[in-house]
Amino acid sequence: MAEVKCYIPKTLEEALAIRKATGAIPLAGGTDLMVQHYEGSGLSPVFKKPIMIITNLCELKGIKKMEDGSVEIGALTVSREIAECEDVHYLVRSAASRMGAISLRNSATIGGNIGNASPKGDLPQPLILLDAEVELISLEGSRRMLLDDFIKGAKKTELREDEIISKVIIPPADFTYIFYRKIGTRRANAISKLSLSAACKVKDGKIVDFRASSGAAGPKVARGKDAERMLIGLAPEELKSRKEEFLDAWNGVISPHAMPEWRRNSTRRMLDYFIDAVASGSPEGIIE
Ligand SMILES: Cc1cc2nc3c(=O)[nH]c(=O)nc-3n(C[C@H](O)[C@H](O)[C@H](O)COP(=O)(O)OP(=O)(O)OC[C@H]3O[C@@H](n4cnc5c(N)ncnc54)[C@H](O)[C@@H]3O)c2cc1C
Repeated sequence: MAEVKCYIPKTLEEALAIRKATGAIPLAGGTDLMVQHYEGSGLSPVFKKPIMIITNLCELKGIKKMEDGSVEIGALTVSREIAECEDVHYLVRSAASRMGAISLRNSATIGGNIGNASPKGDLPQPLILLDAEVELISLEGSRRMLLDDFIKGAKKTELREDEIISKVIIPPADFTYIFYRKIGTRRANAISKLSLSAACKVKDGKIVDFRASSGAAGPKVARGKDAERMLIGLAPEELKSRKEEFLDAWNGVISPHAMPEWRRNSTRRMLDYFIDAVASGSPEGIIE
């Protein structure tokens, strides 16, 4: 078998030069890549392309709250740090804290979760609800785009062969009500079977922002902006009159392949629960 090169750059500049010259695959925590290249117990994983271990790149680590209220999360930040950081939006912290078991959360990076682009990945779902952006960097410079545009479908992203994901930017958000649920098989080490975030802002007695995002219910996270707009401008107590129409519209937004009936019914029930809580004038905050 031909030998495959493994690079371990010490700086971002070095990493970008290697990426441009060889197209080496970035390996962060390796929790997806090592499983994908598993060859059996006691055997080394087999890679067909060069790999580049990027864990030394300090430039891609850490969480920063910016002056405009946005929060930037370096691509190599692991889920445990995200779950523990109060600056990060509750919805993203909730998702990070429910990823795998503690050992996994110490290795699994946000860049890897996004780069892997699995429909069952936990972080893209709340990030897409929050209109988060991703920054991609190469020797040519950097570019930013909505995470929703970056992830094109299952395992498909806009990442070029010479680029690395450098950070995720979460804009400031101010919601009156928020809701997060992940349904997995068990509490630890369970990949999402289904997940949902929902958020709503009420101002002067009217809904001025309503958002939802569904994970593991189609080839990528589903956001249905047309459906969301149906509820804007209503008073919370008017929500019940448009609820069924909204839930039917959301049913058209998701496209589950496996266990579609269960996924559609569960999604409907979660959204129904959230809307009823908002409509009934629950105390503001997290809807449990
Ligand atoms: C037992 C187990 C349980 C799991 N449970 C969950 C779970 O509950 N929820 C969940 O969402 N996931 C889960 N996963 C999947 C995995 O842990 C996550 O997707 C994790 O975030 C991947 O991060 P990583 O750093 O390990 O990525 P890696 O495996 O290193 O990389 C994943 C992909 O992203 C690319 N990549 C990584 N970093 C960059 C970068 N900076 N720039 C460009 N490309 C990059 C890699 O090239 C690769 O294609 C689980 C995995 C295992 C093995």
